[in-house]
Formats: sequence, structure tokens, C-alpha cells
Amino acid sequence: MTVQTSGPAPLPQSRHLATAIPGPRSEALHAERRAQVTDGFGIALPVFVERADGGILADVDGNRLIDFASGIAVTSIGASHPRVRERVAAQLERFTHTCFMVTEYESFTQVARWLNEHTPGDFEKRTALFSTGAEAVENAVKIARSATGRPKVLVFDEAYHGRSLLTMAMTAKENPYRLNFGPFPAEIVRAASANPLRPGAGTSTAGTNNDGGAVSGADVTTAALASVEATLAEHGADAFAAMVIEPIQGEGGFVVPAPGFLKGLRDIADRHGIVLVIDEIQAGMGRTGTLFASEHEGVAGDITLSAKALAGGLPLSAVTGRADLMNAVHAGGLGGTYAGNPLACEAALAVFEAFEDGSLLANARSIEAAAREVLEPLATETDVVADFRGRGAMLALEFADRDTLAPRADLAKEISARCHAQGVLTLTCGTHGNVIRLLPPLVIGHELLRDGLAVLRQAILDVAAEAGARTAEASAPALA
Ligand SMILES: *Cc1c(COP(=O)(O)O)cnc(C)c1O
Repeated sequence: MTVQTSGPAPLPQSRHLATAIPGPRSEALHAERRAQVTDGFGIALPVFVERADGGILADVDGNRLIDFASGIAVTSIGASHPRVRERVAAQLERFTHTCFMVTEYESFTQVARWLNEHTPGDFEKRTALFSTGAEAVENAVKIARSATGRPKVLVFDEAYHGRSLLTMAMTAKENPYRLNFGPFPAEIVRAASANPLRPGAGTSTAGTNNDGGAVSGADVTTAALASVEATLAEHGADAFAAMVIEPIQGEGGFVVPAPGFLKGLRDIADRHGIVLVIDEIQAGMGRTGTLFASEHEGVAGDITLSAKALAGGLPLSAVTGRADLMNAVHAGGLGGTYAGNPLACEAALAVFEAFEDGSLLANARSIEAAAREVLEPLATETDVVADFRGRGAMLALEFADRDTLAPRADLAKEISARCHAQGVLTLTCGTHGNVIRLLPPLVIGHELLRDGLAVLRQAILDVAAEAGARTAEASAPALA
């Protein structure tokens, strides 16, 4: 049955400034929010959204912003995708909830089947659905411990896995994610990651190499894998249930691991009987131009985690893995009241339909090509863009002083603020807060993308020039 969703006309896919950003109505609503909502939630841009459509966020003041955030990689098939609206509206008429542990519904199984068929790994799989990414990570740890009878979990420098107690412990960055929230669950061990720009960037590696990224990717990989082996040996490799890795690190700074690192981890996991969990929560579901980012490295996790873009804006997460692991848990050991909510399952089925003809994956790749053309030259045109990196529509610029690689969070913040003022929603990330990340919806039109990229490029050139002028002024000899 196809339900005709009665809705307003599509939003024009163009940037439009009616007021300053934020406008007066947003400011008033934000003041009220401050009076009612905890200060514990941060805010990237205090603008109140009235509608969202495709690559546009329309605010309460009549402004139309270009969305380079997608609600943090969630609305990848476009905000308010028609098929998501149709399927969810139809389900809304049937029922909103039964709890899958009480009575069943078919869409849960259909979502599981799609994930079993499409996640990397040519082996028999089973899937468990939950609501949030953090829940998926927690459940992967539960499953791996239950299957192996081992307690420890290996995580990596610059990792982000969520805000629950266990996933905070697995997350690397102290402020804001962990600060004042301990003590944390035990048995979490952190190892070196393979950050090509900043090898040994984290605290877990013994040697740091700060020579400005002159080390080859192969050297970075070799050193990081040796460090992982050393960490495992130190803590007892056969005490580890799982190692959990993002195929491209998200909040940690859109770090694409040096080539071969994931493959090396696959080998280490096999050698020691450790469950390899690939956290595809941000990088998966087509974001990087393949359905799952681990495909770029030809690696399959024993368990693959999905969330964020999985259900086009409705809360849904998934743990998909080897049938023997997934079924090792005792009956009743997994679940949750809202796990695999039927509205969210319908939305996920709409997302799968949207990916069917491959055009969204092609879009991700052409977004990368367009962004590369506009932004990559900035690495040589300015002294402050240390890196342009990423895959598909998961791209980032890292700001740092050219010679020392000293992070420049101040510049990332200023550039982002100027983009916001001009109606382009960008987000920052990274251990040092010095990375601007781009997560446009995969349906963003070429014109809209070009417009947003041009605004970002000009903001970078302006801020870099001003920073250069300040430096020159500061080092100019004093006039007699
Ligand atoms: C966002 C994210 C999570 C946590 O997901 P939530 O839905 O916020 O709990 C976990 N891992 C990665 C890689 C993420 O990007």
C-alpha cells in the first residue's frame, strides 16, 4: 500500500538569508530554551529549524541554510525523504509499538535480512536491532564477552563510541565527553591508532613523530600495528573479547587510518581469537561511497555496527555479526523496550530502497570529487590547512600551523562561525577541535554543494590571510 503523504511543497534547494544568523525568532526561542533545558547540551548553531528538505534547513526566521551536517551523518538520503515519510506515515496508522520482545512484526526481520546480506563478510549472519549507536556498541561488547568468555576490550586513540558509561570509557577524548563523569567501567584498554598526519597522536603510543607528516603511510601502519601487538601482549591477548574500531574515525577528526591498518587488525584479531567489531555508525550506510566504509580496505568485521543514517532520521541501530557469535548469548540476554521500533524499521526499509539503484553511492563519490577540487588546493594556498581528507561525503579539513603542526582550533572555530553567518552549516570535530567536517546529504544538488563549498573556501582564505597578517605584525620589528 502506498500512502500519499500530504505535505508542503518541496523547499527551494538554494541558500537564502532573510535575517542575520541566528535571526530574532531563533534568538528568542534560544533564550527560552536556556530557561528550560539543561546547559549540559552543547549547540553548534543556535538556529531553530522549521522544516528540512533535501540539503536545506529552513529556520523560523525565513532563512534557508545549506546543510553540511545532516544531523551528524543521519539524514544521508536527504532530510524528510518522501519514501521515509510515506512508510512511516503508513506504519503510524497500523501501530507504533508492540515491543519486539512481547509480540513480533515483520519489518524487524526485513531490516535484519538486509543488513545480513549487505554488511561485509561472506558468512552466515544474524542481526540485533536497538535504538541508539551507543546501545549497539554496548551490545556488541556484551555479545563478544558472552561468546568468548573473555573480559577485556581493546579500543583506539581518537576513538568515539558514545556517551553511555561503557561507551564513554571506550571514547578517547576527555573534554567534553568524559570530563567529571567517571569512574568508568574497567577492562577497557586503549591502543595506538594509525593517524597518517599525526602518527602516535594519542597517549597510548610510546614514540611520537612530529616531523610534519613526512612518515610514509606504510611506516605509520607498521608502527601502529606493532604498538597494538605490544599493548595486547602487555594486557594478555587471550583476555580480550573484542577490539572495536571505526573504519574512519568520526568525532576524533575524520581520521582515515593509514592503508593496511584495518587489515592488520583483522589478522591480529584472527591470531588471538578476538572478535573484530567495526563501528560503522558514522561512516557506514553509504556515507563514504560504498555501503560500508570497511569495504574500502577489503576488511570484514566479525561484527559490524550501524546506526545514524540507518533509518533516515528515526532512532535505530544494529549489531550484525557472525551467526555463531550473535547466537552465543542466552535467550532473553539482549533486547530493550524500544529496540527496533516499528516506525524506525519502516524508515530503514525506505532507506534501503533509496540505496537500491546505486545512484546515492555515486553521488557520494561526486561530492568528494567536487569538494576535492575546491578545497584541496587550500593545503598549498594557505599555511594553515594541514590536511584535506576523507572519503565520499565524509570529508574534513584539519587546521594547523604548516611547520609545527600545532593545532589551530581558533581558526576552525572562526571559519565555521563565518560559514554559519552566511547560511552554511558546518561542524567541527577532532581531538584538538581543529577540524571542520563536511557531512552533506548524499542527495545535495550540485549547485547547492558548489555554493556551500565556495562560502567555506572564501572563509578559509579570509581567516588564513588575517591570521597571517597578525603573525607578520607580531613579528615585525618595532619602529624606533
Ligand atoms: C555517533 C556515534 C556513536 C554513538 O551513537 P549515538 O546514537 O549517539 O549513541 C558511536 N560510534 C560512532 C562512530 C559514532 O559516530
